[in-house]
Amino acid sequence: MQTRAEHTRTAELEDLMGRFPDVPREAVIKEDLLRGGIAFDESALTDNEHGEVKPKSYFIFSFDHRTLPELGTAALRRPPEEIVLTGGPYQLRRTVVSVRVNPASPYQVKADEDGALRLFLEGRPLADVGVPPMPDYYRHNLANGKSVMEVAPTIQWGYLIYLTVFRVCQYFGAKEECQYCDINHNWRQHKAAGRPYTGVKPVEEVLEALEIIDRYDTERLSRAYTLTGGSITSKVDGLREADFYGRYAEAIERRFPGRWIGKVVAQALPREDVQRFRDYGIQIYHPNYEVWDKRLFALYCPGKERYVGREEWHRRILDAAEVFGPRNVIPNFVAGIEMAAPHGFTTVDEAIASTREGLDFFMSHGITPRFTTWCPEPTTPLGRANPEGAPLEYHIRLLRTYREAMETHGLTSPPGYGPPGAGRAVFSVSSFMDTLPPEDEEEPASA
Ligand code: SF4
Repeated sequence: MQTRAEHTRTAELEDLMGRFPDVPREAVIKEDLLRGGIAFDESALTDNEHGEVKPKSYFIFSFDHRTLPELGTAALRRPPEEIVLTGGPYQLRRTVVSVRVNPASPYQVKADEDGALRLFLEGRPLADVGVPPMPDYYRHNLANGKSVMEVAPTIQWGYLIYLTVFRVCQYFGAKEECQYCDINHNWRQHKAAGRPYTGVKPVEEVLEALEIIDRYDTERLSRAYTLTGGSITSKVDGLREADFYGRYAEAIERRFPGRWIGKVVAQALPREDVQRFRDYGIQIYHPNYEVWDKRLFALYCPGKERYVGREEWHRRILDAAEVFGPRNVIPNFVAGIEMAAPHGFTTVDEAIASTREGLDFFMSHGITPRFTTWCPEPTTPLGRANPEGAPLEYHIRLLRTYREAMETHGLTSPPGYGPPGAGRAVFSVSSFMDTLPPEDEEEPASA
């Protein structure tokens, strides 16, 4: 039996819960799972496409702490896409968490003697675990035999259809790739494992997959889609970035006008390109700024710095707010890389102060940034140098800082993310939505 002294992660968790009682306990645990990953016992793995549980789809990055060959059985029988936590000693309200696998994590999901799945921390039960049921639309294939899951995976408990239509990034190699991003490695590892992993998804396949989702999603859980993929610095299929991603937007909105909230994640593009996204019917634009600090942006996003530059990137975000309306421009940053060695801030205070400066900059223009919690993937330079990720305290204080900044600037939760509030949120790759106060109805996304 373990002694209290051996429960070091439990002690850290409880210390932070005690010091920051205004941050929901659900969010503290969720952040720790997102930054450090979860080990999966074989009893908690899925039967992939043919089972009753929706498996992890590897929708863009690996979001794992080990490469596929190092995951053992979890590479052959994938874990679930997400888990939902309830109950346990902290009486958790319903909390949806994206799955990031780490066989060395002190958190483990496994079936208890009674067969029910539970989350354990350092061997002690922490929460009951629910898993996403296989949606009906995944039981059908495209006419050419491809699976709907490969072409149009859904995440956030079915809320969001994630259309990574270009599986690689033209920022390539150490001098261009963002230092925390494994999109290109993830592509390579899935191809090496012989998994179907389409590099450029044909428009017709995307439309066919969406038609199947539309037909079988009778409860209308899917509310939004995101068009995304790597950056395009030259051309793909003979098209520049705005034309490439725009062609999907145009085709989807022509076939299914207004059926889903359409979002695009692309680089911060010139105003004319952004206007075209809007004209095609896209409602939300994500020109992700990744990290606020000037020095860190140049070091950690060398391709973006070289091709566009930080100041121009920010200027284009402000321009986009005039096209879409500031509420519908939602740039992401990768929460945690502020503290990544070798160049990041060494104290939580400095990192939070820098992050807050960026939030104030955008929020003072009515723009609501959002964030995903950094997963230090092992094939990235920052993941290799920081296998533990950023301190949990940074993530907890970021949640408070974000909420405070929203209050200061009179903003409410961004549109297109489902409901805010602990026990209600579905956004699974950060707990910022779990931490915001509940609102009665989701705001429609319109300029
Ligand atoms: S621009 Fe950076 S973060 Fe985006 S896909 Fe390319 S390397 Fe990854």
